[in-house]
Amino acid sequence: MSAHYHLQTKGTSITTTTQDTHVLIVGGGLAGLAAALELEQAGIPYLLLEAQARFGGRILSQPVAADAGFGVDLGPTWFWPHQQRMQRLCSQLGLRIFTQHIAGDVLYQQSGGRPVQRNGAGQGMLSYRVEGGTQSLIAALVARLDPARLHHGCAIVRITHGNEGWCVTAGATTHETPAAADAPQLVRARHLVLAAPPRKLMQIAGLSQCLPTGLPAALTATPTWMAAQAKFVAVYPTPFWRQDGLSGQAFSRVGPMVEIHDASATADSGFALFGFIGVPAGVRIRHTAGVLHEACLNQLVSVFGARAATPDVSYLKDWAREAWIVSDNDVDESPMHPELDLSAWLPQLHRMKMHFVGSEIAAEEGGYLEGALGSVESFKRTSELFA
Ligand SMILES: Cc1cc2nc3c(=O)[nH]c(=O)nc-3n(C[C@H](O)[C@H](O)[C@H](O)COP(=O)(O)OP(=O)(O)OC[C@H]3O[C@@H](n4cnc5c(N)ncnc54)[C@H](O)[C@@H]3O)c2cc1C
Repeated sequence: MSAHYHLQTKGTSITTTTQDTHVLIVGGGLAGLAAALELEQAGIPYLLLEAQARFGGRILSQPVAADAGFGVDLGPTWFWPHQQRMQRLCSQLGLRIFTQHIAGDVLYQQSGGRPVQRNGAGQGMLSYRVEGGTQSLIAALVARLDPARLHHGCAIVRITHGNEGWCVTAGATTHETPAAADAPQLVRARHLVLAAPPRKLMQIAGLSQCLPTGLPAALTATPTWMAAQAKFVAVYPTPFWRQDGLSGQAFSRVGPMVEIHDASATADSGFALFGFIGVPAGVRIRHTAGVLHEACLNQLVSVFGARAATPDVSYLKDWAREAWIVSDNDVDESPMHPELDLSAWLPQLHRMKMHFVGSEIAAEEGGYLEGALGSVESFKRTSELFA
């Protein structure tokens, strides 16, 4: 249900679009979209508002070719055999998965100008990837949801709670993403599902005043997993490292990348290498992205040889610059897995019809894609909405 209210102020008229819904979801990453799918399948009316101009949050894949759909991952890449929820969701959404390429030798880049060492036989745990990049998961989820219920470019800036339920102000942001033209500016909802990183939630005006005692401090203390990470990806016409008997895995004491892997978009196409950058976010921020980009490419040449010098294309993704994901504390602290136990607050939260989902909220596998799905499973299991 949608209504337009005309506010008359001195000489100006402001039109506010207000929408009523049963459930409002804040955040359109994996957790928010998976929660939306549960509501959609249960026939429960909802709206989902996402601050950024795209859905997916920390999930982001870059096309390797115009006709290849999604491609190499700039955010999450792997899930592991024990993570059954990810495997079930991929199968439910009809997505193909493949195993991370690890066959071949591993390289070690030593410090002090010593030669790169080659060690036999592929190493590392068996891990899975989504064909075409992890963003295929987001595209498949969005395709199953009613587009009229999803809005991006629509940030939540204020939340209040009263007898009538939740009243949420959206749209006017301090960041540079314009709100979509059809997006509501005020939403009134019976239930609120918070699906953004806890530290970002705590920046929403009014929210901490609505929360039970002790919870604001617990949310503020919860780190956002990988939020201060940066990745470099180089896409090549051929997997020259595989042809040389290398796995694409390399570990470095030189940097800027500390760990490099094969990042091809499928088992045998969209060939790419990626590395996690070891330069701390606080230091990276003081340099232009171009300097780091060049240093990463030079490092690939030092480790893998001259053919690494000419990728078709390369990307540097610095997550510490993503204003809707990272918080100052995430930049300042050493990376830590989130551990947040909401159980003490659940009775009060349920009375208020307030729910938390997201990777940082997960009771197990916190920080991972699997954790994001686990938190949605708990939401479904414990919320009166699905009773
Ligand atoms: C570089 C990198 C590598 C990773 N590698 C792996 C991996 O290999 N395997 C793995 O399992 N996990 C990995 N992760 C972690 C994984 O990405 C996360 O666990 C998962 O994507 C979190 O999903 P989420 O929906 O909980 O949160 P998010 O993806 O952070 O989604 C939250 C959404 O809320 C939105 N939002 C924030 N504030 C507001 C607001 N005020 N109003 C509206 N919307 C708002 C944000 O824009 C965002 O879209 C990696 C992460 C990164 C960054």
